Amino acid sequence: MNALAERVLIVGQGLAGTALGLELEAAGVDFVVASEGHAHAASRVAAGLINPITGQRWAKSAQIDALLPRAEKAYRRWEEQLGHALWHPVTLRRLFRDDEERTRIVEKISRGEMAPFVGEVDATGMTVCGAAWVDLPALLAAAEERWRGAGKLRPTTVVRAEFQAAADGVSWAGEKFAAAVLCTGHGALAREFFPDMPWVAAKGEILHVEGAGIVAGEVVNRGVWLLGEGAGRGRLGATYERGQEDNEITANARDVLLAQGCELGRGELRVVDQVAGVRMTLPDRLPVAGWRSDDIRLGLCGGLGSKGALWAPMLAQCWRAVLTDPAEDFPKELAAARFAGKTAG
Ligand SMILES: Cc1cc2nc3c(=O)[nH]c(=O)nc-3n(C[C@H](O)[C@H](O)[C@H](O)COP(=O)(O)OP(=O)(O)OC[C@H]3O[C@@H](n4cnc5c(N)ncnc54)[C@H](O)[C@@H]3O)c2cc1C
Repeated sequence: MNALAERVLIVGQGLAGTALGLELEAAGVDFVVASEGHAHAASRVAAGLINPITGQRWAKSAQIDALLPRAEKAYRRWEEQLGHALWHPVTLRRLFRDDEERTRIVEKISRGEMAPFVGEVDATGMTVCGAAWVDLPALLAAAEERWRGAGKLRPTTVVRAEFQAAADGVSWAGEKFAAAVLCTGHGALAREFFPDMPWVAAKGEILHVEGAGIVAGEVVNRGVWLLGEGAGRGRLGATYERGQEDNEITANARDVLLAQGCELGRGELRVVDQVAGVRMTLPDRLPVAGWRSDDIRLGLCGGLGSKGALWAPMLAQCWRAVLTDPAEDFPKELAAARFAGKTAG
């Protein structure tokens, strides 16, 4: 095993940090997770939906053909590691907005652009194959409990003044590590250590709802989506406010979501909770896995955007490979160095 892998510090136990910890654990690499908890974590808010066909253009998600089987395999393995169900296949029905959209999408389908994710198509919409939702709160809670019990979790905020990274490793709070990986989501630390990263924040809100028409394991999507987590209960989301970075819930988001949600054909919906979080993305819409460009043992795993559930397993596996095999490197399109210009000392 590479000397780098002696002991790793993971900062942040959202989805990215949890995935990395589980991969390092499976590889037998010693690690510590320092995290300030989930109160501000996007992973606490997210629905964990994996939808192969997204956006206004009904386009296949980037790299979906490779990422989807890899993600399912990883979550299934983590289910065994944690003894908790995480991966839930769903029937996702995407509805056409109008005749114009139906004509355009039927043409796309006939050109094979959405294969192999096209299921039943009729006058109202299309069934998207391969969709799933990942129970992120269960994943976070199970990993937190496991690592707390094993003495691997430090429930604290890592501040820059107590943290020193150099070419031969990292020291933090009197402990030494061979390397540290920031999995801090929209926390300030990643911006402090990777100041040249052109982050784009996007706030989102979700409603937890009840309604007699909600079917467990079914997602209906037109503008917004309604995920049936159980019979008569589910989540309705999500708003997308580019440039907005607070965690406040708003009456406006609630009204917008409810109005669109009630048009999904599942009857009346009653709001039981409302949550807000912040997604971090990058201009090329790809996440980041990589070292800082100045040869210190400090890395980043983030920028998961709206597709964290899909990307997190792959990013964690890239990190696992790099930390255990000196011959491995990050895919160029994901490397932190793609935005390198200047980095703070
Ligand atoms: C409304 C909404 C809906 C979404 N829906 C989906 C969806 O359906 N499917 C999907 O795949 N994705 C979805 N996402 C995106 C998904 O939430 C993110 O991609 C993913 O959760 C990001 O995970 P993360 O670990 O990078 O960040 P986070 O989950 O934010 O975790 C970061 C962690 O680091 C900790 N931390 C930060 N700074 C420090 C520090 N200095 N010291 C110690 N700890 C620190 C935080 O406390 C937190 O626990 C959604 C996001 C939002 C906001």
